[in-house]
Amino acid sequence: MRTLVLDQGYQPHRIVTWQKAVTMLFGGKVEVVEEYDEEIRSVSLTIRMPAVVRLVRRLRRRKRALRFSRFNVMVRDEFTCQYCGDKHPARRLTMDHVLPRSRGGATSWANVVAACQSCNHDKGAKTPKEARMKLRSAPAKPTWLPMEAFHVRMTDMPATWKNWLFWNASLGTDT
Ligand SMILES: [Zn+2]
Repeated sequence: MRTLVLDQGYQPHRIVTWQKAVTMLFGGKVEVVEEYDEEIRSVSLTIRMPAVVRLVRRLRRRKRALRFSRFNVMVRDEFTCQYCGDKHPARRLTMDHVLPRSRGGATSWANVVAACQSCNHDKGAKTPKEARMKLRSAPAKPTWLPMEAFHVRMTDMPATWKNWLFWNASLGTDT
């Protein structure tokens, strides 16, 4: 069993084992938001296993190195084709090299965008200008991605978490 940890502002922060969550709870670091039906028994007390907990203190946002990955590009681009603006589940989106790879385009935050299959096909090995396709925004390395640590399939996710993971309905179809 795992426990979803929310930050003070009820945003998903991280996922820990329930044992770790209980340690945090007894250390006064978190409060329980949702519980599982399962109970934890010790000699002196019985508590429900925590499903969702919230940090009681404000978190200092640590700078994390943002990994360049297909999924993180999709998150940055909000699962939206950067040419036509249609939203798709991640598996239906492709990574488009703005300056095509065949012409020296790098596989990097600044040169890769999410594109639907038909836009990617139409664009082919052309630049957006040559293909007469306009990028919705210039790609860049994001400073922070809220979902980066939460690449969890909905099907693997305890029901009690779903209320707290509203930010990413499209994640559910990314299987
Ligand atoms: Zn498109």
